[in-house]
Amino acid sequence: MLAVIFSVTKLRYFLLGKKFTIETDHIALTTMMEHKFTNGRLYRWSILLAEYDFEIKYRPGKHMIAADVISRKNEVRKHSNVLIAHIHHKQKGLFSRERLTISQNSPELKNIRKKLKENPYKEMFLEEDLIRKRIGKTLVYVVDEQYCREIIQLIHQDFNHIGSRKCWLIFREEFFCKNDERICKELVGICQVCQQAKHRNFTNSNVDRSIRVQDRMELLAIDFLSQLPRTTNGYRHLLVIYDVFAKYVRLIPTARSDTETTLNGLTQFFTEFGLPQKILSDNATYFNNDRYKNFLLDKHIKPIYTTIRNPRANPSERAIQEVLKYLRITLTEDHRKWVKHISEIERTINHTPNTELGTIPYTIMTGKPPERPWKTKREIKYAEEYTKLRERLQEKSRKWEMKQQDFRKKRKIYALNDLVWVKNLRTTDTSKHQSAKLTKP
Ligand SMILES: [Zn+2]
Repeated sequence: MLAVIFSVTKLRYFLLGKKFTIETDHIALTTMMEHKFTNGRLYRWSILLAEYDFEIKYRPGKHMIAADVISRKNEVRKHSNVLIAHIHHKQKGLFSRERLTISQNSPELKNIRKKLKENPYKEMFLEEDLIRKRIGKTLVYVVDEQYCREIIQLIHQDFNHIGSRKCWLIFREEFFCKNDERICKELVGICQVCQQAKHRNFTNSNVDRSIRVQDRMELLAIDFLSQLPRTTNGYRHLLVIYDVFAKYVRLIPTARSDTETTLNGLTQFFTEFGLPQKILSDNATYFNNDRYKNFLLDKHIKPIYTTIRNPRANPSERAIQEVLKYLRITLTEDHRKWVKHISEIERTINHTPNTELGTIPYTIMTGKPPERPWKTKREIKYAEEYTKLRERLQEKSRKWEMKQQDFRKKRKIYALNDLVWVKNLRTTDTSKHQSAKLTKP
């Protein structure tokens, strides 16, 4: 059952809106979906699966060679005895031309379409019979409210419950709807998961202002997120490598937090992105020793350290806070499972726009377009994004200096009978494998 959930969520983009078959040698599973569960774990799973259109077929174990080979290749799938065998392409997914046409033929857009046929505007016109709108330099599809809601919901869930502004920025990369900004706020506002797991947006952006960077790979910040619940594979720490300019983050689960693991992680990062100019860390013994320093100096990288009193001056702290936020959202009961969500969280941080700068870390770092649930034809030009980011960074620091005098923030005042969420006291409970760090507030 877990294997079904795992594979189905992994292949979500390919499966949503399509009819498919799951073959398994686990006979009990074939009848499972016919049961009605009213509570507990199975109930939650059946809800998860309800959005997919599939059929489970029994196939005796000896015919399952293909699936077994696949499951043995990957550790996570070790216990999987399921193979998504056939993905039928008969039904079209959420991001198909057909779905778009339905949306643009809705009462909301029908008339606009008719008008555009006769006299197209410069900013809005028909292209291959679809309404297109020009916003700045991007060309987007105009959609109705219903379709807009579906897309935003998918974006929100697919990227670990990102905030409404991020949702909106991603939506606008490819689509436009008259009320899209309001819909984002509304949908994120009523999301149960978000309300329970998110706390107020942390703003420690002054951190970035104190450090001036002009380029990617000019300054990396590193740190360990330590003392996480030990996973079954023995992972306990998370090495965080952060490019301060691009805001690109690399998360590496490790068994130990020492110099050796740090150097391994850095080597891995260097082979992918080349050598940085400087690396910033705190004064922990695994960063502040001869072996670490010599490793860097050998490569002409300058090690720099934050002052002892102020660990917050390390920009990777910001990345760590973000990782923790996403972990609290994704983790439910067994906190030892944190490691399974790490790559997904890394993807969320890197592939969604930075709300202050509007730039996408992955694009700044690699020059490539980010991952989206839809296919995008749009090419993001690295150089263009890059100069934009530089300009915005400069403007930001100018604004900040002006803002400094007017520093006080308004507080929210609650009226009588307002509904509020009450914070739980977070505690670590090893018998339940729960850690205070990861508990929802
Ligand atoms: Zn949410």
